[in-house]
Amino acid sequence: MNATVGSDSPEPRPARDSPGKVWLVGAGPGDPGLLTLKAARALRECDTLVYDYLASPAVLALAAPDCDKIYVGKKAGAHTLSQDDITALIVRLGLAGKRVVRLKGGDVFVFARGGEEAAALRAAGVPFEIVLGITSALAAPAYAGIPVTHRDHNTSFTIATGHEDPAKGFSSLDFAKLANPSQTLVFLMAMGNLGAIVDRLREGGMPGELPVAIVREGTKPTQETIVATLATIVAEVERTQFAAPAVVVIGNVVREREAIRWFDAAPLFGKRVLVTRPQRGSDELASRLWEMGAEPVLAPTIAIGAPDDAAPGRDAVRRLDAYGWVVFTSSSGVEACFDALAQQGGDARRFGRARVAAIGRATGAALRAHGIVADYVPERFVAEELAAGLLERTQPGDAILLFGAQDMREAPRDLLRQGGRAADAVAAYKTSAVRDPDLADLAETCDVWTFSSASAVRSFVDNVPGATDLAQDKTIACIGPITAAAARDAGLTADVVAEEASVDGLVAALFSLPARARATE
Ligand code: SAH
Repeated sequence: MNATVGSDSPEPRPARDSPGKVWLVGAGPGDPGLLTLKAARALRECDTLVYDYLASPAVLALAAPDCDKIYVGKKAGAHTLSQDDITALIVRLGLAGKRVVRLKGGDVFVFARGGEEAAALRAAGVPFEIVLGITSALAAPAYAGIPVTHRDHNTSFTIATGHEDPAKGFSSLDFAKLANPSQTLVFLMAMGNLGAIVDRLREGGMPGELPVAIVREGTKPTQETIVATLATIVAEVERTQFAAPAVVVIGNVVREREAIRWFDAAPLFGKRVLVTRPQRGSDELASRLWEMGAEPVLAPTIAIGAPDDAAPGRDAVRRLDAYGWVVFTSSSGVEACFDALAQQGGDARRFGRARVAAIGRATGAALRAHGIVADYVPERFVAEELAAGLLERTQPGDAILLFGAQDMREAPRDLLRQGGRAADAVAAYKTSAVRDPDLADLAETCDVWTFSSASAVRSFVDNVPGATDLAQDKTIACIGPITAAAARDAGLTADVVAEEASVDGLVAALFSLPARARATE
């Protein structure tokens, strides 16, 4: 969808001599779905990206490939640039006319020095904008199933830093006020001082049995949570070697986790899932995987490109309205058709009175995105079924265009011709194997491998010599029976096969996985 959002979001890239601008952008705590629309737009349109260690790769990937990406570090104890250097850097870039996104984990104004950076930009006369992010102080508890307020437990919550020097005795934190069991306390950057914080709270009169949760890597597939009490939490952290970045939540709201726990109870929580489908079209699967608590690992094994001879496809697109029916066998064919139309300066009106068939709902959806509602949507690409369906809907002599992959099977065209129809099968695109020297290593780190086509399977095993051995402890999910057969031929067992050959179908199949795995445990 190409919605335009936020009238005050970044304008197109300016000419070089116009003044720059800096967007101070909160990236949220990790789940890329928590990014605001404004942040996504700023990321897409910036020419320079300044980021630190809390930024997740999926968020960084939104920036244009030619965007300058500058890592400034800032992990506790391992500073890459000092805060003063970072502030000076964004001021300098802004003055040089750059369109800069300064990306920060969580929110820009919650323990993130965003206030100082904004003030320095103002002082230097560099225009800036604040793009809020969701703070880990709220998100990490929420993803652990802990509401920071709850009618039964509290009427306020406090977000505090635990980073103050304990030698200075937490000069500015008033522990007497914080030590109130009927408010929720959320500490960031507290792992180093946890013992001291707990001691001060107990000195202030907080009961030892008050529940405490610590959530690390909140909202990510690697999220972990421990729950204990004020009296036992320090020992629990020691026992589990629990490390930053983590949010500490203290208060009776922690009791709600048991009932509300959702994200880390999601079907594929914590699983790394290899996505081998081509780049175009992997976004939807990736975001569905995030929703299931899984981490998508994008490693396309095939690429979609122009066919060896693109002329017949271009000619067919030029004459679309000469056909009685145009049949799309995949969403890649739909995209190739509309790419060609755009190049020819045309649009959907070129279809004229032609009727349109889309094989599979995903292909139908791709057409709909271009404003065309298919007249006929057979579920599967089975030559006899497709030919029979089209013969039913046409008369002898009618012209039918089959627009698909270069290696499309010829059977449907031949059957239509036998039925007296003027059928053409034209190559819209070609899938070619991708060479990826890192694929074997990536595949090894994943729990689930997904395949969306037979050619993706074949290219995968070409890239991963020991695939059959490596597959022993992996779950393999295939989008349909043809893909599953290709997997079998390659020595891999398809553990799940989608009932409907689409991203939705694949997701539904994956959804049923953990239940099965549990049943066999
Ligand atoms: N501006 C950030 C906070 C930066 S301070 C925000 O609004 O979230 C860095 C601290 O944030 C870390 O020490 C940790 O306490 C917390 N933090 C950031 N991301 C986190 C995450 N995904 N899970 C748990 N804690 C996180």
